[in-house]
Amino acid sequence: MIVKSEAIVLRTMKYRETSRIATLYTKEIGKISVLAKGARDGRSRLGGALQPMNHVGVLFYMKETRDLQLLTQCDLARSFPGLTTDLDRMAAAMAAVELTDAVSPPEEPNRQLFELLSSTLDAVSRATNQPGNALYYFELHLLGIIGFRPDMRHCANCRKPVDPRAGGSGVHMTANGILGPECSGKGLGLEFLSPAALAVLQRLQETADPVSATHLVLNSRVRGEIAGVLRRFLLGHVEGLRTLRSESVFSSLR
Ligand SMILES: [Zn+2]
Repeated sequence: MIVKSEAIVLRTMKYRETSRIATLYTKEIGKISVLAKGARDGRSRLGGALQPMNHVGVLFYMKETRDLQLLTQCDLARSFPGLTTDLDRMAAAMAAVELTDAVSPPEEPNRQLFELLSSTLDAVSRATNQPGNALYYFELHLLGIIGFRPDMRHCANCRKPVDPRAGGSGVHMTANGILGPECSGKGLGLEFLSPAALAVLQRLQETADPVSATHLVLNSRVRGEIAGVLRRFLLGHVEGLRTLRSESVFSSLR
């Protein structure tokens, strides 16, 4: 069967003398591995667009009995020129790609996840302010897609609405959400979240636009809180996820 699809390139590796194996997140089939014969030969039309984080249009021969499909065509569908201009953008984009890889079993299409990844990469690429905020947006919405949407509006224990503007010193987190002021004192919570960080998480969860996330100007304390909370949620729900390779690479470069 010949399949035509849009795809985001998750990762690539060299194979033999001139070829490449790539893992793609395709719109039609989900995550697949493809062999691009001769892709590292300078004259090949296959190789140019087959780079991590690129949004491409692909054609491949799909045989269900094999794990590696044969790529026959790969063209750039949409470019994200901003992604490689600085370390913050690269780190955010690579983390989104790596998380998509980590949560996706092979050959299980998920249009929502495809759209989330592609819109996030676009937002990171175009951000004028804080490109990393698009990663927070991605992580929060990714949790929803994989079935663990944390409710940032209601107490996980008594279901009462939680309003960050109501004052107070903040809320406690649980493994799946937040605790309102009445339940926070009961010793159920794990960690603390400031009203400012909670307000941002509510906003990120309720927008469908990662570009708007990059317009928020967040101080480093709030960013640290949000990054920590989201990472704990993800570590709790994504099997096998311990650390992100991209993060250790970028923290050593910084
Ligand atoms: Zn409560």
